[in-house]
Amino acid sequence: MAEGPLVHLNARQLRKVLKGRKVNIEFGVLKMKKHEKSLRGIRIEDVEAYGKQFRIRLSDTRVILVHLAMWGYWRIYKKGEPWERPKERARLVLRTLSHEAIAFSAPTVRLFRADELGPDTRWGSLGPDPLREDFSSREFFKRLKQCPKLPIGEALLDQTIISGVGNILRIEILFGAGINPRRKVADLKEADRRRMLRWIINLMWKWLEEWGREDEWIRIYRGKSKPCPRCGAQVELFRQQDRITYACSSCQT
Ligand SMILES: [Zn+2]
Repeated sequence: MAEGPLVHLNARQLRKVLKGRKVNIEFGVLKMKKHEKSLRGIRIEDVEAYGKQFRIRLSDTRVILVHLAMWGYWRIYKKGEPWERPKERARLVLRTLSHEAIAFSAPTVRLFRADELGPDTRWGSLGPDPLREDFSSREFFKRLKQCPKLPIGEALLDQTIISGVGNILRIEILFGAGINPRRKVADLKEADRRRMLRWIINLMWKWLEEWGREDEWIRIYRGKSKPCPRCGAQVELFRQQDRITYACSSCQT
């Protein structure tokens, strides 16, 4: 499952080989094939990460949006290097003179005009992303306050409130901040919201910058019936919005 930090890491890698380059674009999604002709000779302006979305900006202002969801992944090969993954799983292939970047098994590959993406209710109205330069904590708190009845564990997964936080992150953020995932947004005090935001920023940046190293920041995810590393009580397992949740009911109040 690609959470924000992996999306940003992949976007950095893609940017290195694609930014400013002319590309040949091939879609592995049948209904997208018709666009290939109009994309011939196009240049990639930039590859952006926004929450869990990749936004590949093209020189004619159109945007290719890719979402990896649970199964998708990127691979970058030098030209001529064999792919170690089945060709039929390639959903998007971007070819430059020197490299091939492939989104395998990505369930979402879409093409938008720049003016369509912003207002699009499914893909456009993203909450602020803590890993982007344009992150605004004020905007995050504003969007949070609009859902007072939502349990905070569900609010953090809502990409229109904050983008890039997935299941592992929200579990560890709330554990770090000592906030029970079942608590309603309206019951959080100003100090709770501030402390939670510090944990959001710390853990997302830590994961991004220390990618591939030991995940010592993961303390209770998958820790069912193990003792809580802070107070020794048993870690509890339950579901929220159909996602597995771990929490310590003794020190997450
Ligand atoms: Zn505890």
